[in-house]
Formats: sequence, C-alpha cells, structure tokens
Amino acid sequence: MGVYSIAVDLGGTNLRIAAVSGEGKLLEKLTTGTEVQRGRDFVIREMTDAIQSLMVKYRDSGDLAGIGIGVPGFIDMDTGTIMRSPNLPDWAKFPVREEIERRLGTTVILENDANAAAMGEKWLGAGRNTDHMAMYTLGTGVGGGIVMNGRLWHGVNGMAGELGHFNVESEGHPCGCGSRGCLEQYASATAIVRMAHEVMDSGSAPDLVDAARGNVEFTSRGIYQLAIQNHPSAQKIYRRVGRALGIAIGGMVNALNLPMYVIGGGVASAWDAFAPTMFEELKVRSFIYSITAPDRVEPGQKHTVVTIALMGSDAGLYGAARLPMRAPRAQTEAVRSSIKS
Ligand SMILES: [Zn+2]
Repeated sequence: MGVYSIAVDLGGTNLRIAAVSGEGKLLEKLTTGTEVQRGRDFVIREMTDAIQSLMVKYRDSGDLAGIGIGVPGFIDMDTGTIMRSPNLPDWAKFPVREEIERRLGTTVILENDANAAAMGEKWLGAGRNTDHMAMYTLGTGVGGGIVMNGRLWHGVNGMAGELGHFNVESEGHPCGCGSRGCLEQYASATAIVRMAHEVMDSGSAPDLVDAARGNVEFTSRGIYQLAIQNHPSAQKIYRRVGRALGIAIGGMVNALNLPMYVIGGGVASAWDAFAPTMFEELKVRSFIYSITAPDRVEPGQKHTVVTIALMGSDAGLYGAARLPMRAPRAQTEAVRSSIKS
C-alpha cells in the first residue's frame, strides 16, 4: 500500500484542500471560500472538518503521511506559528500546527505558500529533474522559495526565500515590508496596474488613457493584452517587469549559481511580454549568467536555466502534499506518540 497526504492551501480568498498520492496523483480536491472575517476558529474548524472527511474517505488507499499546509505570510518553523500574515491578521502568534495536530492526531507541516509552490514545481513541474532551484511566484505580491539538495532552504527561522523583497530600485516605490524598491513593487499584478496608472497620470501614455476609456479590463492581464496588441505604453510596463526580474534573478545567480530559476504565478503567463527584457538584463547583471546561459555554452555543458513554471495555481497544493512525505520518519512517529500519550 502506498502513502498519500492531505494538502491545504490557506489563501486569503480560497481554502483548497486536496488528497494527493505518493506518486503525485490528485485523488480529490475541495475548494471553499475562506471566510476569514468569521475568525480563526471558524476557519480552523472548517479546515479540520474537510481534512477529516478526506482522511475517512481515503483511509483504505494508503498510509497517511501527514498534512501539509501552505499559508501566505511569515512562519516560524520551530513553533509552527504564523508570525505575520496580511490576509489572516488574527492568526498572528497562534500555534496553528499544534492545534491542528491535536485535533487530527497526525503530523502537520506548516509552510509559507510560496515555499510550498517551489516544492510543487520541484516535485512534479519545471524542477523535477534538478535538486537545486529558486522559484518566483508573481501574483498579487511576489513570493519566493529556494530548494537545495531537494529540500526547501529555510534559513535560521524558516523565513528564507522572500525573493519578492529583493531590492531592484534603491529609492523605488515603498513596499508593504517597510523597505522600498522591492521586486514586488515592479513585478506583481498589483505593481503592473499601479505602473499603468502612474504613466497615465503623468500624461505620457495617451494610448493607455484611450484604452482605459474603452472596455479594456484594467488588470495585469488586460494590460498584457494591450502589450501583445502593440500598445507601446503597455509594452514599456512589461519591459519594466522584465528589467526588475533580470536584476533580481541576476543577483540570485551571482549569489548561488543554481542551475534553475522558475517563474510562476498569474503574471508569468505574460512571459512573452517581459522575458526578452529579463534575459537581456540578466546577461548584464550577472557575469555568471552571461557565460552559462543556454545559448552561451556548448551542448551538454552545465548551464543556467530561467524558465516558466508548469504546475499553474496547483503548485502550492502539490508542494504542501509533498512536505509530510519528505519529513523524517522519526519526526512523524514522535508526533504520533506525543498525541497518543
Ligand atoms: Zn518589500
């Protein structure tokens, strides 16, 4: 009999729960709205009820490795506590892992959602043939995750991989983290819309103002549509996204010389609008990249790959499912015995 695990993606708007087999096959997925405003206890009850229904349903299909939960925000890995999550304000300092382990009697692993997405891409997606990679998730914000030797790199507190707060403009736009000019302020969906409004307000983008008067949806996707229809101001915005990514990834290549950098999240689907500038910038910002880019090495030589993610919005769910499967057996047993005693 194989193993399976249950993954939870605790987003700000959706709560997604899935049973996933040890081979990476999705057994079942449940989606509900996260009624965050009804409070932490309500969400935890809803989550544990759904997990329990899957535990009952799949109990004959394998050993439950545990539960992996992806959460947006800063997580203290030692205590299994959410330190800060903008979407889940009343969860701060609450021992989520302990509480859910107590209710369900199985191993629970809490992980930052972008780290979980990196693990999902590593397990089944773009990174499946490498043991070392970094992932950027370009969504409402920009998340990141670093995988080394097949495992997430956590740093001392579990907060490593905040690649969205890599500085790309020393005196740039203020960021929610307290700094300014972070990658997130130039490469997230939110940033793309903001940059469009900035150029329109400055009077330098009459083509965007015209488009905004029409029925163009003023989202990152809508602005991408304008870019591929050759609207110069929209193209310029996506070139700025590419430049910011080139600077940030160039820094990572210089620091870690990993073989692979994966770009996912909703904004990644605008790849053709930002990637050419990103690759140009990368070659300038990183000497290592300039000599190890796929078009700069002999066939068969080790090189640096920067590529689009393959797992879509389920990357985090698969990654969260993978975490308890990868946890040392001893840790799993220790949890089980501590719950029984
Ligand atoms: Zn920041």
